[in-house]
Amino acid sequence: MRWGMVINLNRCIGCDACAVKCNQEHFLPNGVLWSKTLISEIGKYPRVKKHVYPVLCNHCKDPVCIKVCPTGATQQREDGIVWVDQNKCIGCRHCMISCPYQSRSYYFEEKEYYPGQGFTEWETIGKILYPLRVGVVSKCIFCKERIDEGIKKGLKPGVDREATPACVIICPAKARYFGDLDDNESEVSKLIHEKGAVQLYPAHGTDPSVYYIGGIEEAPIVTKYFGIQVYDTSPELTFKEGAVGPDESE
Ligand code: SF4
Ligand code: SF4
Repeated sequence: MRWGMVINLNRCIGCDACAVKCNQEHFLPNGVLWSKTLISEIGKYPRVKKHVYPVLCNHCKDPVCIKVCPTGATQQREDGIVWVDQNKCIGCRHCMISCPYQSRSYYFEEKEYYPGQGFTEWETIGKILYPLRVGVVSKCIFCKERIDEGIKKGLKPGVDREATPACVIICPAKARYFGDLDDNESEVSKLIHEKGAVQLYPAHGTDPSVYYIGGIEEAPIVTKYFGIQVYDTSPELTFKEGAVGPDESE
């Protein structure tokens, strides 16, 4: 079994519901982001195109982040889910430097979502239910608690809502799908084979478990993904070093 996700770029409307739901589901503190929506603009006025890329940890089959972690904090389950044991993480951030997809988030300091107004009830509850230690790295965990609890109840992740990652069930455009990549009959496997879904920048060689539909038509853009100007609300992803401006040749 290998859990994976398919995101249909043709359906995505860039509403950010996936990112907001992820924050809500895991009570992520201000400054920590596991799910993001990158928006790029290609071309020159008036021939400008906007492209939206929802991104998250790819739960790579051959994750480089595990190889560089000196403490064994980053681990991979048998079902392919890559996660970080907070108690073992020393915050060295080797994994952040090595991840070619910039999928990880470092918790720099505790700060309110509304500065000067104190922590909201939601933030206070989150510190109890889903505590995250300052000074550690975290990232998307494919909602492994939902999967594990769901399976215990006899539910099928990707089919039954209760057992499926929150970003998938919240998506109003139904652009996200989840399931077992090792099962040829799963919806994700069928989409990959029938719709030609592609991994994001497979040249990195980590074999991502997240696939994108729309990558064929947008291949020139997708392959230049990390070399184009990216507008994003998360500070660590605004610009990648060496990035160039919008490609005027498009
Ligand atoms: Fe690790 Fe990055 Fe792959 Fe996620 S996307 S498994 S953090 S290498
Ligand atoms: Fe491992 Fe934590 Fe260091 Fe990342 S920051 S490499 S998870 S110890």
